[in-house]
Amino acid sequence: MAELINGKVVSRHLRELIASDVLKFKEEYGITPGLAVILVGDDPASTVYVKNKHKACLEVGINSIEIHLPATVAEDVLISKIEELNTDAGVNGILVQLPLPKHICEERVINSIIPEKDVDAFHPINVGKLMLGKPDFIPCTPAGIMELLNYYSVEISGKECVVIGRSNIVGKPIAQLLLSKNGTVTVCHSRTKNLTESAKRADILVVAIGKPDFVNGDMIKPGAVVIDVGINRKEDGKLTGDVDFESVTEKAAYVTPVPGGVGPMTITMLLKNTLIAAKKQISKYFF
Ligand code: NAD
Repeated sequence: MAELINGKVVSRHLRELIASDVLKFKEEYGITPGLAVILVGDDPASTVYVKNKHKACLEVGINSIEIHLPATVAEDVLISKIEELNTDAGVNGILVQLPLPKHICEERVINSIIPEKDVDAFHPINVGKLMLGKPDFIPCTPAGIMELLNYYSVEISGKECVVIGRSNIVGKPIAQLLLSKNGTVTVCHSRTKNLTESAKRADILVVAIGKPDFVNGDMIKPGAVVIDVGINRKEDGKLTGDVDFESVTEKAAYVTPVPGGVGPMTITMLLKNTLIAAKKQISKYFF
């Protein structure tokens, strides 16, 4: 039976560390780190995410600045708002909640956040720095996965790491991070042939595709570490991951549950990135 990787426990532990670090930072510099979160429109899921980010900021002593714009807002108005925040000394991190309404170009919006305040790490400069192995910020979900592996002392060096999914926010960056820890990394995606064959080789298997219960026990190696990033809502309203938890638990050494695995880590890493941003902006230690 696999051991559970408990994201709630790890997240709580890290938030305590972040809170005490925020306090030290305030005492030393007299500055409260600030995170601005922009929500465009009233999408229910996005509204909940933004609320949770706000609550998490307060919990660790980070100043949370919420900006709510109507779904009809013009792209240029949104970008002007971001430009204002770029030069606001009270704002160390800027996050635009995605997805944006269809009339707004996400790429243009992301690129308008200065890299020093891009705590989601989606700006091309930050993506490039991650590729070079010298990131200022690591995108939150992959950063959370690395923290989980670290907390449970999972050795990465020399291990077969297989990532299923190649999105810019999870698949590609987690592949890069595992590589930077000397894993032997394979990235699989919707056009991969013999996916099961690749998955079965994995000592560490990361699944981020958005397909409920896609990976089952027959697709994994006994003793594998299985990280389930997927968040899917079933017909009965319950959440499920991309991994069939029951069959995988029988064979894996470690597995993340959904909910309660990777999910709680993402916001925690956003808090960490905001604190990193505040520290770097003080020391001007960028570039
Ligand atoms: P995405 O939706 O942008 O892309 C899906 C990826 O999966 C693509 O690269 C595609 O090639 C691959 N894929 C799709 N079908 C496949 C198949 N049958 N076989 C192999 N590969 C296949 O991906 P995303 O944004 O990384 O999201 C993936 C999942 O992770 C979603 O369920 C999302 O909700 C979840 N997610 C969770 C968190 C979190 O905080 N826990 C954060 C981000 C995303």
